[in-house]
Amino acid sequence: MRLVYLDNNATTRVDPEILSAIIPYFSEHFGNPSSLHAWGRKAKTALRTARQQVQKLLNAKEEQEIIFTSGGTEANNTALLSALAFDPERNEIITSRVEHPAILSLCAWLQKYRDIKIHYIGVDAKGCLDIEAYRRALNPKTALVSFMYANNETGTLFPIEILSRMAHEAGSLFHSDAVQAIGKLPVSLHNSDIDMVSLSGHKLHAPKAVGVLYLRQGLKLQPLIRGGHQERGRRGGTENIPAIVGLGLAAEKAFNTISKDNAAIAALRDKLEQGLLALDSKALILGDREHRLSNTLNIAFENKDSEALLTFLDQSGIAASSGSACASGSIEPSHVLRAMRVPYPFAHGALRFSFSRENSEEDVSYVLEQMNKILKDPRSNRDIL
Ligand code: PLP
Repeated sequence: MRLVYLDNNATTRVDPEILSAIIPYFSEHFGNPSSLHAWGRKAKTALRTARQQVQKLLNAKEEQEIIFTSGGTEANNTALLSALAFDPERNEIITSRVEHPAILSLCAWLQKYRDIKIHYIGVDAKGCLDIEAYRRALNPKTALVSFMYANNETGTLFPIEILSRMAHEAGSLFHSDAVQAIGKLPVSLHNSDIDMVSLSGHKLHAPKAVGVLYLRQGLKLQPLIRGGHQERGRRGGTENIPAIVGLGLAAEKAFNTISKDNAAIAALRDKLEQGLLALDSKALILGDREHRLSNTLNIAFENKDSEALLTFLDQSGIAASSGSACASGSIEPSHVLRAMRVPYPFAHGALRFSFSRENSEEDVSYVLEQMNKILKDPRSNRDIL
């Protein structure tokens, strides 16, 4: 059976070249970068190289703006908690209803236990932010605005340049959870109004549990993880050198191939989209087709059951995901699809296919072949289940 992995927004395979390059950092180059001997110096050099590779991908001004973390979730937590630490007069956060739980659950906690006021800005049917509502929410008490760069479920892009400028005009800091964007889109932080950015290694063919918080030069950080002097005292704990080396190499590879990869990936995604619409002309494309990650397709089939569709796909060797989550025993459309007010008969039949540079035309033809069978199978109907 053919195996087709189309769940790259969940995680990506570690690039085989990167895997070979990092193995020596578990064996012969196992030193601690804080040690002064040759083993330590080797690790320290590798750490610096990785920092410079990420700096280049982000087009950041200084290598010290790159702080290695254990992933996107830690970077997001650090950004929000740190931003709240500086000005007691500013105790409000603005974010959107469609953020990842790595932002939303922290915001819920801050509201409940730290009495922080959170403004959740809504989106329209395409997942685009209500900019007027955002403008109204900005006020002299806003400590931080945090908007995602690209939505993990629909791929919809927020206009980060405009949103960050608005935050600065109101005297607030601006953070972006760019976990789904970095490595998929060219990003330039030098001369931008973006103060903090989170990214995650495993979304760009690097290992899991490594990420970065970009912190604009001159901004202070309140560390989330206190300990040693690592990362200039901004993130304690011995650095995960093999994973960091992998992230650096992944950043370098993304920097060199982003435009070429994007064009090829978009062509595959569009071919799948057209093919699925030909199978079911009433299917809805969820997200903003004009401003969307080139690797993401979220498509909703009326009166179909996404869990059943995914099971059929899985049995055919195809990995995709749905826009639903199991909440108290029943399958509910995700908070993103609810915020977009996707009509009920469609929201339950949404599938997300997310591509990477490892996918091929043959993958798309195979998925279309299988989807043709699956959509005709009565067991995929919501009513029957
Ligand atoms: N933010 C977004 C938008 C994501 O898609 C994810 C992962 O799915 C995260 C944050 C969490 O990143 P990590 O898995 O590195 O903690």
